Amino acid sequence: MDKIKIEKLTVFGKHGVYPEENVLGQKFLVSLALYTDTRKAGLTDDLECSINYGDVCQYVKQFFEENTFQLIERVAEQLAENLLLRYDLLQKVDVKVEKPWAPILIPVENVGVEISRGWHIAYVALGSNIGDKKSYLDEAVEKLKNHPLCQVIKVADYIQTEPYGGVEQDVFLNSALELRTLLYPEELLRLLNQIEAEAGRERTIHWGPRTLDLDILFYDDCIIDTPTLTIPHIDLQNRDFVLLPMAEIAPYFRHPTLGYTMQQLLNRCQTL
Ligand code: ATP
Ligand code: CA
Ligand code: CA
Repeated sequence: MDKIKIEKLTVFGKHGVYPEENVLGQKFLVSLALYTDTRKAGLTDDLECSINYGDVCQYVKQFFEENTFQLIERVAEQLAENLLLRYDLLQKVDVKVEKPWAPILIPVENVGVEISRGWHIAYVALGSNIGDKKSYLDEAVEKLKNHPLCQVIKVADYIQTEPYGGVEQDVFLNSALELRTLLYPEELLRLLNQIEAEAGRERTIHWGPRTLDLDILFYDDCIIDTPTLTIPHIDLQNRDFVLLPMAEIAPYFRHPTLGYTMQQLLNRCQTL
């Protein structure tokens, strides 16, 4: 992707682990790579179509003056998040924070940290089969909409479906949504588990009745296998109650390992 670069912006700040650093302060050097599509600005010569790097520099200066952290890791993390939330056109940012005058008592030319942060697209499946099912789904959508690090892009129509997995129980209401998020996959899972818990979810029988079930279907085109998280969701290709909503909101999205689009997976699932 295109990027706009700012190199070694010199700012003053009081970040540090030592108390004297928090009082006296020192100079920091900040370098940024702002990932954004510059094509439109390149064709139109219109600043509105791009990110104003002058504004970014002023913002970085202000950020350093208004905050005091111990670690430059924390400085870089918070600055990256603030920039991604402040500039709509910013997809990803590399932030380098250098502290060449760090008081470490041994001659050193430079110390610093460099991180990359950006927006990710996740797809989440929603299901409920106890109580006021529609309210449980509505509330989950609302909580994700209100989360500072999540933007709900699309929500599929709610559909009524038969239970899956052989446990005798009430019909389900299902949906899927597209999320733009700054959360890492494990953090997103924790948030979804918290929203489930707030809906009174109890984990008793596997595939049994539940007030709210929120599963991560995809996270960009990442492949993740840990004891607590499998992405893409391991069984989504066999579930029409997942593929129907997905084919509605993302028909052309391609499963990163199976190689089929959501529409193709739905067609296959329905002809089995
Ligand atoms: P299924 O995953 O087959 O739809 P379920 O949703 O009923 O079954 P749960 O009891 O809700 O299963 O979840 C069991 C565990 O699955 C969770 O504690 C979580 O750690 C793990 N898990 C693994 N991958 C995912 C994922 N992609 N999304 C949500 N949970 C996942
Ligand atoms: Ca599930
Ligand atoms: Ca689940």
